[in-house]
Amino acid sequence: PIVIPEKKVAEWKYTTCNYCSTGCSIEIGLDDTGKLVTSRGHAGADVNRGKLCIKGLLEHELFESPGRGTQPLMRDKFHEEFKPTDWDTAMDTTATKIKEIQDKYGRDSFAVVSTGQLLTEEFYTLGKLVRGQIGTNNYDGNTTLCMASAVSGYKRSFGADGAPGCYGDFEHTDCLMAFGSNLPEQHPIIYWRLKEAKEKRNFPLIVVDPRVTMLAQFADIHLPITPGTDCVLINSMLHVMFKEGLEDRAYLEAHCNNLEELEALVTQDKWAPEHAQKECGIDEDRIRTVARLYAKAGTAMSIWTMGINQSTHGSDGVANINNLNLCTGNIGKPGGTSLSITGQCNAMGTREWSSCSGLPGYRALENENDRDTIADFWKIDPEFFPKQRGLCQTDIFPAIETGEIKGLWLVATNPMTSMPNTPRIRKAMEKLEFLVVQDCYEDVETNQYSHVYFPASVWAEKEGCHTNTERRVNLIRNAMPAYADSKPDFWIFKEMAKRFTERNDIHFPETPEGAFEEMKELSKLPGNYGQQRNLDISGMSYDKIEAARGIQWPYREVDAEGNSTNGSKLKGQHDLKGDPRLYSDAIFPTPNGKANLILVDFVNNNEQPCDEYPFWLNSGRVVEHFHTRTRTGKIGNCNKFSPTPYMEMNPDAAEELGIKHQEYVRLTSRRGDAVVMVQLTQRVARNAVFIPFHFHDCVNRLTLGLLDPYSRQPAFKQCSARIEKI
Ligand code: SF4
Repeated sequence: PIVIPEKKVAEWKYTTCNYCSTGCSIEIGLDDTGKLVTSRGHAGADVNRGKLCIKGLLEHELFESPGRGTQPLMRDKFHEEFKPTDWDTAMDTTATKIKEIQDKYGRDSFAVVSTGQLLTEEFYTLGKLVRGQIGTNNYDGNTTLCMASAVSGYKRSFGADGAPGCYGDFEHTDCLMAFGSNLPEQHPIIYWRLKEAKEKRNFPLIVVDPRVTMLAQFADIHLPITPGTDCVLINSMLHVMFKEGLEDRAYLEAHCNNLEELEALVTQDKWAPEHAQKECGIDEDRIRTVARLYAKAGTAMSIWTMGINQSTHGSDGVANINNLNLCTGNIGKPGGTSLSITGQCNAMGTREWSSCSGLPGYRALENENDRDTIADFWKIDPEFFPKQRGLCQTDIFPAIETGEIKGLWLVATNPMTSMPNTPRIRKAMEKLEFLVVQDCYEDVETNQYSHVYFPASVWAEKEGCHTNTERRVNLIRNAMPAYADSKPDFWIFKEMAKRFTERNDIHFPETPEGAFEEMKELSKLPGNYGQQRNLDISGMSYDKIEAARGIQWPYREVDAEGNSTNGSKLKGQHDLKGDPRLYSDAIFPTPNGKANLILVDFVNNNEQPCDEYPFWLNSGRVVEHFHTRTRTGKIGNCNKFSPTPYMEMNPDAAEELGIKHQEYVRLTSRRGDAVVMVQLTQRVARNAVFIPFHFHDCVNRLTLGLLDPYSRQPAFKQCSARIEKI
């Protein structure tokens, strides 16, 4: 018999997983010396109901893994050896260098890029420092590689960011359509929720994906779409709906702008299934079938991930999914919704509170009222804020190439592996006059180019909140002291703020909980069009969040007092009042309170396979790894199950080229090349290959940096390549 060694747990501490955006509640076990020895899913948590995936189960192994930063490091030139230093010296030097660069080249010549991995209070504090004191407008998060298209699509359709739906919708829906989302590998616990709901109610599951993913294998209908043509499929579905009178006209007329214009567009002949099939690669009868199925389902919902977002048509794709749901009356009702499945654990928190794309609490730099609100709250002059958004991450690196940006502060993000076309990123890094890297791991690839390194604490060495995919704010309790001389990111930001008081002497709370209380006050302040703000967390507190194992916003003071704003008490909020869905009142944060139908007239500008580069190159995830493996690359079992990159290739295509299973080949695109091992599988079509994106110096040496015009998100998933034997 297998004997599992007993782990002597003296105390369990509550926390939330720090990998993906599912937002699983975890209990981590400490032994009597205070060492973390195990992790388990919290049985009482509505999100994961006691379950965890491999990453969550092994999360306690992070703390003493190799490569952890132990002390601040500095050097004059990036090719010199680092010298250890103390925090005051590292921070003083950094503040002085930032000011020198800004004095010499202008405020915007210094850029800051953060991440969806920080805790919400850290985002808010960093945003206050960057927007209110450092004063650069070139501030972004790596959300631009991940969820920026969802943000942009939501804003265009509904007037504000924020996913309207929740996981509880799986238990009410009559039809679910998944676009470019492979839940079993990306978000295993959301997949488990979906699978349980489908097994109970057997609703049809339609999966749109060029690859036969694990989710596609579970689907009732798999639509193997031509990469980057989701908007064609959706327009064609809308064509069928309007032509056959299947649209929800009462909902559209009462609650949507642009109905006439959208109807005129999608009923054009070019969107008829018999024409659309040529562009999107889905048979015309299949298009009619899914359009009728979705429109007649009763309630229907759509989920999506990077297959939609990482595209030159990402924002249009999201807006068009919203069109689909508005046209069928499927917004804001149980089982009828749009639900973007977010990437990083706190990508939602960065969107809500970081100020990357504007000002905290979904406020915009372009809006005078929003600038005045925040300036008044922070007690600074509103003229200190720029009047429009600066550069996104994907525009910051080209600006380094041109010399417009001279200095950069990277917080827990690793563009040397995560950005498209990494050979170009490497050259840009070499040009920087000053680079600060703040990360838990000093061996992160990007640190090769830094002048100062700040060692940050990991996850349960600090305290604060995350917001998950379904707008659930959950808590990370401080379970153990910071490793060596690393510091919580919150501490680093608030201490750095003390070095910029001559610009604006803003008050910074001393603790994360103090910052959370400040954010609660800010969330109560009114919105722009007279409606109640949805992003209202004023009824929450750390203790309430822990007791409920997460609370979804909006959660207002009135909800906390037991007086629900709409009298509802829905599954998914435990015994708390408040509505876990947005727009159930069909009031949208737009000037006239209606949702906007967005006109998407698709022009195909994807890089296409050709004679020289005949294969579609697609990238994605495996369940064992998270992002650039900064952490999971250090965890024994994650590496044992997924040790190296590989390329999925269709056996027929391999036979034609004389390539065998597990042979190494050279894959080349217009950007660069990589040597990779072949795995033969029918998962990919004859003219397509797939490589997991987690590994350094692999697929992102080849990917394309062409950007979506609204979100500035790159088209990681639509580029072409050729294969050569070596
Ligand atoms: Fe963590 Fe996501 Fe796995 Fe849950 S599904 S344990 S949040 S990585």
